[in-house]
Amino acid sequence: MKTLVKTKYLLDCTGGDPIPGGWFFFEDGVILTAGRPGEPAPPAAGADAVLDLSDSFVMPGLIDTHVHMGLSHIDMIEPMPVNEQMAQPPQIKICKAAMYLRQHLQAGVTTVRGMGEEHFIDVYLARAVAEGYIEGPRLIPAGNVITATHGQGQVGLSVADGVEGVRRACRENLARGADLLKIFVSGGVVSGKGGLYAATYTPAEIRVAVEEAAALDKYAAAHVHGGPGLDMCIDAGVRSLEHASMATDAQIEKILRAGCWVTGTFSPAFHPSGVHFLSPEKAERLAAVKDKFMETFSKLVALGANLSFGTDGVHGALAFEAETIASCGADNMQAILYLTRDAAKACRREDEIGVISPGKYADFIALAENPLEKLANLTAVRSVYIGGAVKFRAEQNEGCKSV
Ligand SMILES: [Zn+2]
Repeated sequence: MKTLVKTKYLLDCTGGDPIPGGWFFFEDGVILTAGRPGEPAPPAAGADAVLDLSDSFVMPGLIDTHVHMGLSHIDMIEPMPVNEQMAQPPQIKICKAAMYLRQHLQAGVTTVRGMGEEHFIDVYLARAVAEGYIEGPRLIPAGNVITATHGQGQVGLSVADGVEGVRRACRENLARGADLLKIFVSGGVVSGKGGLYAATYTPAEIRVAVEEAAALDKYAAAHVHGGPGLDMCIDAGVRSLEHASMATDAQIEKILRAGCWVTGTFSPAFHPSGVHFLSPEKAERLAAVKDKFMETFSKLVALGANLSFGTDGVHGALAFEAETIASCGADNMQAILYLTRDAAKACRREDEIGVISPGKYADFIALAENPLEKLANLTAVRSVYIGGAVKFRAEQNEGCKSV
């Protein structure tokens, strides 16, 4: 069924200005043609249906490139520290994850990249969403995070040491359906394991993860904040650096030269619903690094680094990520492109998602207000479509009517 979508403004996220009265056709979940600037919407003749969003600002669905489906910092029914959440049984986590996936949908997110779970729950969730058992964004799974015995996280992860141990863990992830491999290299801001400058893997262990991913045309991502581990990851060819918040100027230059992607995750540290339950010592540690986070990302934005952003457990807070990026110096258009076009590239899915143009999936959202004027308007989500099918509708005043 060929559907014509009419809009008030269409921001296709290919880099151009929004198109007043922009329109596009889709069929079988894929975009066929899109209107060019100044070109009026065609008459409905030739379409089997019209989706009239002519009171809305329409743009591609948002892409959150760093989530963990089994834990949350926000809207928890039973608030508990992240470490306790991680220790919950996978059956509970998977039920909670179904709820979190809906939060993403309602926030206009049409694709999430799982950046490592326990018990492979993201692999199963991706399948459940794809097969229609539960509603959620498209899900790109990393499978289990791979970590050293003395590394960050533990419960239900793939604990692996030594080159051959890491190789086995990588191959198990790939066999179970991981789309990328995620390793923990440094410690975290709030975890008790290691510090932000720790390196819990050796260069050889990191290299083997890169090699095993590349052998199946996948890529490696590393949780790494700074220190020698960050150099090791860049040198080893890790494609996606998660956080990189403590990068020095020299390391930022290396990141740019190597063309690595950096995933910023402001929400856990900066969002009012971010991490809680911190001991006074950890709260102090978090407060101490916030300025450095902002400084690093201000430099990365100014230098034109490859960036995308993720909410890392604050499900649905991508608009907050956008506003924080803007306070690091990105203009509103660039902040939006980080969450759409560039996020698709970060996930190596730019042939499928991230922009409204022919051949891409019909993943789009209708907003009540223009987000280019104010990024908080990204939260004014009226409806969300994935592959052309409506997945969320805030009001019932719009819809697909036959012609
Ligand atoms: Zn994370």
